[in-house]
Amino acid sequence: MQLMLQEILESCKHLTRKGQVAQYIPALGDARSDCLGITVIDMNGHVFSVGDCQEKFTMQSVSKLITLMLALIDNGIDGVFSKVGMEPTGDPFNSIIKLETLEPAKPLNPMINAGAIATTSLIKGSGTAERLERILSLIRKLSKNPHISYNERVYLSEKETGDRNRSLAYFMRGIDIVKGDVEEHLDLYFLQCAIEVTTRDLANIALCIANMGKDPYTKEVVVPEHIVRIVKTFMVTCGMYDASGEFAIRVGIPAKSGVSGVIMACVPDRYGIGVVGPSLDDKGNSIAGIKVLEELSKRLKLSIF
Ligand code: GLU
Repeated sequence: MQLMLQEILESCKHLTRKGQVAQYIPALGDARSDCLGITVIDMNGHVFSVGDCQEKFTMQSVSKLITLMLALIDNGIDGVFSKVGMEPTGDPFNSIIKLETLEPAKPLNPMINAGAIATTSLIKGSGTAERLERILSLIRKLSKNPHISYNERVYLSEKETGDRNRSLAYFMRGIDIVKGDVEEHLDLYFLQCAIEVTTRDLANIALCIANMGKDPYTKEVVVPEHIVRIVKTFMVTCGMYDASGEFAIRVGIPAKSGVSGVIMACVPDRYGIGVVGPSLDDKGNSIAGIKVLEELSKRLKLSIF
C-alpha cells in the first residue's frame, strides 16, 4: 500500500500546478499550491501516509458533515429536514438563487452553504463557545486527536469577508428557516469551517464513518448508525459540490471536499481516506486530490457501485 500511494502521489503531483488556490477567503490564498498529501487507514488501524501529511488545513465544507451529525443528534431527523432538504443541486455551493424560487422555501441540502448554515443554527448549546466546544469534541473523538482546534486567522478572514454567507443567513431568517441570533450562528459556521486537521485526522474520521459510526478498535458507538447512514448518503449525492455525479462515476466512494483543498473519503468496511491538494478546479474541488482518489479507486477496486 505504502509503495502504491507513493507511486500515485508522484503520478499526480504535476496536477497541483493546475487550477487555483481559493482566494475568496483571503487567508486561504496563502496556502502552498504544490502541496499534496494522502493518508489511508484500514480497519486494523494500519496507517499509510505519503506527501504533505503533517501540515494542517482548515476543514471548510468537510465540517458540514460533523455539524449535520450534531444537528441530527440534537433535533432528530424530522427536526432537521423540516429546515433543509435532501436533494442534490446543480448550482454552485454558495448559490442563493434556489432559496427564493423553490417551494417550499428551504435550502436543497445540508452540504451547500445555505443548508449548512441552517444546520449549524440547529446545534444546541448556550452561546458560541459552548456550541463550538460540542463540535470540536465530536471531531476530536472521531479523529482520535484531542488537540484539534481552529485557525484564528482563517476564521477572522472569513468572518470579515463572508458577506455572501451573511446574506444567505439573513435571507433564511426572513423565510423562517433560521431562528434566533443570526450573527451567532454565522460566527459558529465560520469557526467550524476554520477547524484545522491533517490528512490523518480526516482519514480517522472517515474510518469511523466507514465503520457506521463505531470506533473500529474499541467498538464504541461514536455516532448512531442511522445518522451515519444519512451523512454517508449525502457524501455520495452532494459531497463534491455540483460535480458529485461525475465523482460518483469516476471514483465511486462517499466523499466530501472543502475549499481549502481537503477531501475526506470513506470506503465502507474497508478504509478511511484523507487527501489534500489546495489547487482547485472551478467547482471548488482539489484537482490533484480527485485524481489521487480516482487512481486509488481503480487500483484497489474501491467503487461501491
Ligand atoms: N467556509 C467556506 C464558505 O462558506 C466553506 C465552503 C467550502 O468549503 O465549500 O464559503
